[in-house]
Amino acid sequence: MTASTEGTDGTSDATSMRSHLCGGVTTAEIGTTVRVCGWVGKRREHGEHLAFVDLRDHTGIVQCVVPGTVDVRSEYVIAVEGVVRHRPEGTVNPELPTGEVEIGDCTVEVLSVAEPPPFAVDDRMDADEAVRLRNRFIDLRRPRMQANLRLRAQVNAALRSAMDRQGFCEVETPMLWAPTPEGAREFAVPSRFHQGSFFVLPQSPQLAKQLLMVAGVDRYFQIARCMRDEDLRADRQFEFSQLDVEASFVGQDDVLAFVSEAVLDAAEVATGKRPPSIEQMTWSDALDRFGTDKPDLRFGMELVDLSAVFEKTEVKAFSAACVKAIRLEGGSTLTRSKLDTLTDKAKQLGAKGLAWFRVTSGDGSGTPGAAMPGAAVAGAGGGAGAGGGGGTLGLDSPLDRFLSDEERAALIATMEVAEGDLILVVADEHRLACTVLGHLRVELGSRPVSEGPFRYVWIVDFPMFDGVDADSNPVPAHHPFTMPHPDDLDRLESDPGSVRSQAYDLVLNGWELGSGSVRIHRADIQSRVFAVLGITPEEAESRFGFLLGAFRYGAPPHAGFAVGIDRLVAIFAGEDSIREVIAFPKTQSGSDPMTGAPKPLAATALADLGLRLAPRKD
Ligand code: ASP
Repeated sequence: MTASTEGTDGTSDATSMRSHLCGGVTTAEIGTTVRVCGWVGKRREHGEHLAFVDLRDHTGIVQCVVPGTVDVRSEYVIAVEGVVRHRPEGTVNPELPTGEVEIGDCTVEVLSVAEPPPFAVDDRMDADEAVRLRNRFIDLRRPRMQANLRLRAQVNAALRSAMDRQGFCEVETPMLWAPTPEGAREFAVPSRFHQGSFFVLPQSPQLAKQLLMVAGVDRYFQIARCMRDEDLRADRQFEFSQLDVEASFVGQDDVLAFVSEAVLDAAEVATGKRPPSIEQMTWSDALDRFGTDKPDLRFGMELVDLSAVFEKTEVKAFSAACVKAIRLEGGSTLTRSKLDTLTDKAKQLGAKGLAWFRVTSGDGSGTPGAAMPGAAVAGAGGGAGAGGGGGTLGLDSPLDRFLSDEERAALIATMEVAEGDLILVVADEHRLACTVLGHLRVELGSRPVSEGPFRYVWIVDFPMFDGVDADSNPVPAHHPFTMPHPDDLDRLESDPGSVRSQAYDLVLNGWELGSGSVRIHRADIQSRVFAVLGITPEEAESRFGFLLGAFRYGAPPHAGFAVGIDRLVAIFAGEDSIREVIAFPKTQSGSDPMTGAPKPLAATALADLGLRLAPRKD
């Protein structure tokens, strides 16, 4: 057996049908007879009697010189037997690992004929996504997609092995389940045996894994499939996979350590480099500095607090609880229409307006601005830059003429700007001002999520509640089983908005990779949280009775986490959409062009399930 038939783990690539994989035919095989199988990539006629066929399998391409009479066309499946030889001088292809050799004296066996494919099996092609998904079995033949699938398998293997090494036991939990508390809309599955009743596809194995803690499993993990009936986006599908983790007799730091280990292992396998240990940031720092709980740390543009600068301001637009700003380096070149678009965006996000200041040389030569749409300053006209106390720098903005010299100087100094920069200011209630600027920061500064460097960050100390629902009850920021921060427990009823939870997120390059929390294992705290959430004891019993009942039989303190594998792999693979790392994803509009799903059910199937369809809404 030649070296190339050995896999990296010492197993042989050879099977009863082939001796080598296409990508494994190298100069080491020169002079030997090999048999390779695969799909016909390109065919080029060579003189009157011969043809070059590029034969492709998942490991690469090898050039075969076949008799011109052999009828093989694009995507035919063939077996080729021949002798490996050097390519003639001048025809070596240094781009290909097999580019120095070719297989000659070939006999060809056609294993399967093929119709012309709807698009070329080629990484350079840019077919419409719907066409790609309808023909996913062809799309997946492309080297890039093959690499993505294999990368995903490697990441899964690394995650599994890290959890195994840390003493976690893999347990599969049911797909047919009862409602779970993640708060997303759920997929329902009608029961034939119990007509009129429904299973729910799990949004996550949350309650099952907590029951496993009561069951004494101690450390559980699963590469779990989760289903959420929510709008699809680049980073969201109906179905996704997560590394789901739960452990007993642990606290937050233990979970962060377990999960960090697994994620860093996966990163090392995927990128060849182990990232440094993952930093932590509190939720309130993340909001304050980056305007989001998913900060992209690959670039600066941090939010700057200007409240002190405008403490005594006469500018109505800036008399608010909080005035914050970001600096866009070189941003004074942004056109007026771009600034208008940013202003509209800020308003859509709830701000009253967006103030902008171009930083000029201070000699009054700046481009005069026009009225700021939405600014709370009526009739603001063009304002020439004025050096004021800002050294040589001035500002060009419709608002500039309303600033005092001290304010102008302090604004320039606090923002640490240079000529040509742009300052964007939002004045509002703290959270809103931060959030709006956080969006603008990402819009103006971020790069594709997959572009390095990889910046991981743990966000800790989330608030326990996030806003209120239609009945004015607080909404859990994570889920109702999340343990409040021990220091804030006494304010649970009196000031729920100020209570932090023991919940944490993992963020990579501005994408949330996952969340988790320390869980409530004490019935008294759980009842108090349910009461604050407006969940009556009866409702709690009917929704989660099976969990609460189990807790009465001895629940260990426990905590857990879930890491979204699709997102992690997409970033490692350099893809901006998780669809590129999922074998058979749905389109953005939630259908599968290949199978045609979702499809109507036959009348008999509906009858078996005891279902009758209501007239369609559209
Ligand atoms: N069940 C949560 C989720 O899927 C994760 C966790 O709290 O462990 O987001």
